[in-house]
Amino acid sequence: MMDLKVYNNRNVTDDYLYIDAGKPPKTWQEKFKRVVQRTLKGELFVGLWIVFREMIKFDIHTVLYPVEKLPVSPRYRALHQIKRLLESGNQACIGCGLCEKICIANCIEIESKYSTKGRKVVRGWTLNLGRCIYCGYCAEVCPELAITHGQDYENVSEQRAHFATMPDLVTPMDVFRAGKQKPYPGFGAVSPNADENVKKTPLAY
Ligand code: SF4
Ligand code: SF4
Repeated sequence: MMDLKVYNNRNVTDDYLYIDAGKPPKTWQEKFKRVVQRTLKGELFVGLWIVFREMIKFDIHTVLYPVEKLPVSPRYRALHQIKRLLESGNQACIGCGLCEKICIANCIEIESKYSTKGRKVVRGWTLNLGRCIYCGYCAEVCPELAITHGQDYENVSEQRAHFATMPDLVTPMDVFRAGKQKPYPGFGAVSPNADENVKKTPLAY
């Protein structure tokens, strides 16, 4: 049976390890000596050497945003884009409403109607960017690859309710005519500089 005395023993000081800190300095010379001894340790110079070594490499990692910007991965889900059909230049969206249905934040709203030719046409399409969580479901479900995510992440607004309409997101006609509508790289796309981004962990100095 366990002896309860072990638990009742409050005298924990038996296990303390006492460090000899020496006598406290009295004169200013003794105080100065102790400051020097405590400050100028070997590790200090190792640290200074590492800082100096990195400085003289001039391998600066700071970017002067917004003048300089880092490349964004093709997988990054930033502001939405609505593509045009390459053949006709018409909006690729067929108004099926799948993106509206799947939107987890309930921020897409589509209004469609049948044209006189019996085709479904989109009358209104809005996206509340203040609610969007950039999950990418809408881009994933779109059967026409009409809605995709671009790489433009600067969409700050002073309004919490920040809406975008279809004309805001669709490829501008002049950009399309110049053949600059960027093709969708796909969800599994790898950054062009993926290899450069692999860095070894510095383990030793
Ligand atoms: S990214 Fe997600 S939250 Fe944003 S509109 Fe698409 S489905 Fe909705
Ligand atoms: S899922 Fe695509 S095609 Fe369908 S309404 Fe949304 S953007 Fe248009």
